[in-house]
Amino acid sequence: MVVSGPSGSGKDTLVFELRKIEPKLAYSVSVTTRAPRAGEIEGVHYHFIQRPEFERLAAQGEFLESREYAGNLYGTPKHFVEECMRSGRDLIMKPEVSGALAIKRRFPSAVLVFLTVPSNEVLERRLAERGTDSQSDRAARLAIAQREAAQVRQYDYLIINDTVEAALGALRSVLAAERLKTARLVQGEPAPTP
Ligand code: 5GP
Repeated sequence: MVVSGPSGSGKDTLVFELRKIEPKLAYSVSVTTRAPRAGEIEGVHYHFIQRPEFERLAAQGEFLESREYAGNLYGTPKHFVEECMRSGRDLIMKPEVSGALAIKRRFPSAVLVFLTVPSNEVLERRLAERGTDSQSDRAARLAIAQREAAQVRQYDYLIINDTVEAALGALRSVLAAERLKTARLVQGEPAPTP
């Protein structure tokens, strides 16, 4: 499951809350050259590395996809995702839009969920309230949000994050429905009894 959405849409909180109630859901920790924000922990929120190391890993083919976003590099480590796919473990990740579409091309069974907020004003307010980004960084993130919103139809689901409870309920419903798809039945295994 791939959750994308503008910076400030609340996807970090939502994915965090979902993982609390779905402890078997694996999470792909991305690699980034961005500096850690206050409270971010190495190996939990991201693997924080310097640009030369990122470029070396990219050249070695260690990323399933990687992108530059607001001046920093982000990448999805290949091995962890492939291991989850092999073992049939459900996995969640939250790349930006072009990364999400790259994942879908590589794994067509990926479920793409776009998370957004009721209006641009709400987005601006949330980014300002978060207080973790500079004025110019916020402006860059808002401009990216406008471009990303235009791609929403390439996603399987759209969730408007009005309240965390409602958005979490919607995300859980998507997960539950996707798990019941006949296309996901493993060959040779009996169908689960209701
Ligand atoms: P932030 O700096 O706010 O943590 O993340 C900035 C953007 O990068 C967000 O839209 C986030 O979803 C995206 N992002 C995080 N990890 C990855 C990744 O591994 N690949 C891609 N393509 N985008 C990522």
